[in-house]
Amino acid sequence: MNIYPNYYKEFKCIAGKCKHNCCIGWEIDIDEDTLGFYNCVEGEFGKTLKDNINYCDIPHFKLGKNERCPFLNENNLCEIIINLGEDALCDICTQHPRFHNELPDRVESGLGLCCEEAARLILSQREKTTLVGNSNTNDKIILLRDKVIDALQNRTKGINKRIDDMLSLCKTSLVERPIKSYCDLLISLETLDEKWEELLLSLKEKASNIDYASFESHISGREFEYEQFLVYLIYRHFANSPNLEEAQKRARFTAFSYTLLYYLGALTYHTKGEFNFEDQVELTRLFSSEIEYSDENLYTLFDVL
Ligand code: SF4
Repeated sequence: MNIYPNYYKEFKCIAGKCKHNCCIGWEIDIDEDTLGFYNCVEGEFGKTLKDNINYCDIPHFKLGKNERCPFLNENNLCEIIINLGEDALCDICTQHPRFHNELPDRVESGLGLCCEEAARLILSQREKTTLVGNSNTNDKIILLRDKVIDALQNRTKGINKRIDDMLSLCKTSLVERPIKSYCDLLISLETLDEKWEELLLSLKEKASNIDYASFESHISGREFEYEQFLVYLIYRHFANSPNLEEAQKRARFTAFSYTLLYYLGALTYHTKGEFNFEDQVELTRLFSSEIEYSDENLYTLFDVL
């Protein structure tokens, strides 16, 4: 059984128009079948291909200048696709930014927020997200997850009340800490992009000077962006919890992530005098790349919150 959010099939990579190309800065592992195929490619391109693979325990492409994939050309197009066709991509490149959670009776797929175009698609959904193919199950964690998503989509309530409902459904609570202490916690984690650390340092310094009432009225009518962010996190991280205790950690992580996104939005508004949809996309993309796409950071937060 395959489950996916209703917007899933609308995703289309914007390739050369992408500001944060996923072929920059990430080490891309090559699966066994594709590696076998690459080893058999002949001619000059076959040689270039092999010269740019690091054949270590987990074979991957050698990153070039500015951490670019060696096959990303000056127009930000992929030379593997140009020379060999889209079918020649390794699994990671074919699937990105899609994720697949393999659960006992189902595979739950989705799009990851670390891709700016996926973030645009997810956050722009004005209607409630639905899960295509989601049918009856006896799995207690999935049943709880579905109730949590319903609570997060209850538009008769404000976002903060919906988050309280999520935490009570999971029989847990998030110990409130000053935002400065959240910043310290995040700064202590592994960082990919220095822009993330600069943002956190700036939030730590300016959080007490922000006019939150003015920010609230600036973002009035955009609750659906936060709702989509919360539903995305729960859909992606909750169902594969091995037990209730782990699910509680993920609910707390989701509540924490919302608080952080809200404060970072308020900081952007404080600094720029506005906070538009593209600002929200950029914040969620950065958050996702720095936290969700680092297992070390993600699991540290699951454990300490
Ligand atoms: S980050 Fe997303 S839109 Fe950009 S190149 Fe990668 S898949 Fe395409």
